[in-house]
Amino acid sequence: MIFEFNPHPDELLYSVLARFNLVSRNVMIGSKETVQDAFSSRTASAVYDLPTRLSILHSNLPVGTHFTPERMIQNLTLYRLYAPFLPPDRAEKVIEKMKMDGDVHTTIGVLASRIPFLSHMRYCHECIVEDCNQFGEPYWHISHQIPGIHICHKHYSRLLTSSLQVSSRENKHEFIDISQAITSGEEVSQDNPSEHERFLANAAYWLLRNEPPIIGLEVIREKYIACLQQEGYASFSGKVHNEKFMRSFVGFYGRDFLRSLDCEVIYKEQNWLLKMVRKQRGAAHPIQHLLMMHFLGLSPDIFFTTEIKYLPFGEGPWPCLNRGASHVGHATIREVKITRDYDTGLPMGTFSCPCGFVYSRRGPDRTVEDRSRIGEVKVFGKTWEKQLLKLSSEGKTITSIASVLGCDRGTVIKYKRILAGGVQEEAICAREVPEDRERNKRRKRWLQLQQIHPLATRKELREMAPKDFAWLYRHDNQWLYQQLPDITVPQKYSDTRVNWEARDQQMLIAATTVVEKELSTEEKPERITVSMIGKRIAELGVLQKHPEKVPLTIAFIHQAVETLEEFQIRRVKYVAEELRRDKELVLQWKIVRKAGLRPGFSEAVTQQIHLECKNI
Ligand SMILES: [Zn+2]
Ligand SMILES: [Zn+2]
Repeated sequence: MIFEFNPHPDELLYSVLARFNLVSRNVMIGSKETVQDAFSSRTASAVYDLPTRLSILHSNLPVGTHFTPERMIQNLTLYRLYAPFLPPDRAEKVIEKMKMDGDVHTTIGVLASRIPFLSHMRYCHECIVEDCNQFGEPYWHISHQIPGIHICHKHYSRLLTSSLQVSSRENKHEFIDISQAITSGEEVSQDNPSEHERFLANAAYWLLRNEPPIIGLEVIREKYIACLQQEGYASFSGKVHNEKFMRSFVGFYGRDFLRSLDCEVIYKEQNWLLKMVRKQRGAAHPIQHLLMMHFLGLSPDIFFTTEIKYLPFGEGPWPCLNRGASHVGHATIREVKITRDYDTGLPMGTFSCPCGFVYSRRGPDRTVEDRSRIGEVKVFGKTWEKQLLKLSSEGKTITSIASVLGCDRGTVIKYKRILAGGVQEEAICAREVPEDRERNKRRKRWLQLQQIHPLATRKELREMAPKDFAWLYRHDNQWLYQQLPDITVPQKYSDTRVNWEARDQQMLIAATTVVEKELSTEEKPERITVSMIGKRIAELGVLQKHPEKVPLTIAFIHQAVETLEEFQIRRVKYVAEELRRDKELVLQWKIVRKAGLRPGFSEAVTQQIHLECKNI
């Protein structure tokens, strides 16, 4: 019967029984008396780290004790040091064996780690002084008996080796109190423990004092892999870059330190470090896990209590990088879709903003700046397109639009064509039957017309595109009438200024579209003149008769019209391109003839011709 059982903080069960051994005077009677009292057997062992027969001990404690076998296992032994790194079923088995009997040390499976169990019990000089002051007696601390930890987590002083040899047969059935084992003469070492040693001591103590969830070896491994990916030591698919990883790890701790812990990493296929990140059974030593965590920059509380995922693009939300949107740079994107880049195996992130803008980039992100990097724009989206139209309606040049929207000139030109219907129409036509093609072409053109002239009446629209109107009227009547604006009762505008302003705006948009379409066309160029624009936007009459009513449009047209020289240069480029496309020799006389140039063209045109002839 153990009539006194009052553990101090961080005290080993062994120590509680050793103190009982003193106060009960069993120590006078015989060495095996306390073993008999505690475990009802003289042949039971006094085990310091992972004792067994705790159910029997429980039955020998004072009635009403709150120290159940489970509670003793959790709080008074080294169980918590090992348990988080065991498969759940094995941890269960360890508990069963500690309650009943069995070979616990084999079950925890760390024998293969080559990290030896202690040979002697250890203590901290300062803890002894403090414990005597606070509790009136010294005791064996759990945290001082961890293989691989050589300093006190509280005082960072070196642990001293007592005279109590735990592995000896002699003491096997005896509980020896710390007061009987302190070697008074030992010098207290004054060296400062390294940062690594402090980490290990604190981390191991955290394990003892907390009850980290037993998540299983595979989850632990996945967490390690996620961290290794994050740090660039494993690929997106999870393959560890062994060489780089081992060298960094050894570089981080230094060979001597690892050797002092019996955790040396030998550069070959099989070593404890690589084993830990491979899929296989078999537990590593807690110290090895802590070394791994520290290398990865994690404390055990973070490791066990937070979800660790590989985030090659960091935490969301991510910024929208649509320079055509007012919210550019704001974190509006909540999710990233991550795929594996086929060519490089690197993670590829695709970011979609609600504004319609979708971009991607190859990861992983290395710096904060990477968050605002676009690899490729997948979709520009409505907001961007709207802004493009707005800018071009303001008369901005392609170059300036490109620089505002953060893309190249080619993209601006391409999207202006798409938005004007050209490319979309071609794309749609490509998979349509001829009957539909005609209809869609005309529908598209008609919608475009209505878009450009939102205020135009039915009559005005019909006059602007008589052929399309006639065709649609005959073949697509229902659709046409769905699109047409409501019949407007002719009304007198009380404020004609507003009417002209709106018209000027519409004409400006239409004129800009015409000019930029012409400048980016791959078809035979036509000189940009007032009448060319006027005809194409079906407003020649206004331009000629009432230019003062549409000042914006007139101003735009004046800067857009081409001089003869400008047009000839454009023509030369087009003709040369055509020759190259037809695989013909680009010769001066051919260009002159095909471009319809009359003798006497300017020096600039001649230079352009020479340039094209060289540019084969
Ligand atoms: Zn201490
Ligand atoms: Zn956006």
